[in-house]
Amino acid sequence: MIFRQIAAWALVLVTLIAFPAKAQIELPDWETVKISTENLGHGVYMLQGFGGNIGAYVGQGGVFLVDNEYAPLSAKIMAALSAISDQPVRFVVNTHWHRDHRGGNENFVNAGAMIIAHDETRRIMALAQQTPDMQSEIGPSIQNLPAITYDKAMTFHLGEEIIEVRYVPNVHTSGDSLVIFKNANIIQTGDMYFNGFYPFIDVPFGGSIDNMIAFYDDLYALADADTKIIPGHGSVANREDVRAYQNMLKVVRTRVSRAIAKGLSLEDLNAAKPLADLDPEWGDNLITADWLLNMVYADLTTHGMKAAVK
Ligand SMILES: [Zn+2]
Repeated sequence: MIFRQIAAWALVLVTLIAFPAKAQIELPDWETVKISTENLGHGVYMLQGFGGNIGAYVGQGGVFLVDNEYAPLSAKIMAALSAISDQPVRFVVNTHWHRDHRGGNENFVNAGAMIIAHDETRRIMALAQQTPDMQSEIGPSIQNLPAITYDKAMTFHLGEEIIEVRYVPNVHTSGDSLVIFKNANIIQTGDMYFNGFYPFIDVPFGGSIDNMIAFYDDLYALADADTKIIPGHGSVANREDVRAYQNMLKVVRTRVSRAIAKGLSLEDLNAAKPLADLDPEWGDNLITADWLLNMVYADLTTHGMKAAVK
């Protein structure tokens, strides 16, 4: 256990050294952030302010929320929810541990909600609370941590809706939850999928490009042509968007693995600009090509290139 933590932290240090400034998302002036609400049908909404997309099911007996962005936005998010429901928020799922998806936990607990996450996500959140450089603005309060955790899957029966929360191991992190609103035919992916731009793969905490590519086959099969997919970031997608995204990521993976096989250093790889042709479509938001290359290089050199170089 101790060795695993040391190994994880060694990787974090390497990662931070590899891309010091880019690893930090620049935060906005919170006063200026507005929350938009998009009605996806059957009582499911997507809310967007700053940070990870929020899913909300509004039914009889309460609001079911998936992710909650940053703490300074909680009051605005609650106001946006009160415009679509007079019910309290009863459940909040954290799709994973990153602060832009669960920064408001304590505020929602104080408003009466229960926080739910995968076992592994709670473990990392507890670790983050004890580690000054991780999630520094999220306090040590126990109310920031999920009260309910699960291992493989759990199901909520709320009003007209059946909501399945399903563990998907080691895609964006080691503790990602996929949320399926069954009657509404809506799937929320957390950061396992970004719509329209390069992914973030949290390699020190279990993310894997190979698992991410494989996950898109599962997501495609789970969806039908009408399924609305709420991504971690970006606008609502459909399964063909996911397929196109998977194809892009396969190209990235192939190019990085070829460079590693040729013995290129990370510096040489970045200098070669191997994603220049993909950048106009995928590289103009949140994650730069260099940042992605660093993550994929770290992933493939740490975990090995399981699949043969094609
Ligand atoms: Zn994330």
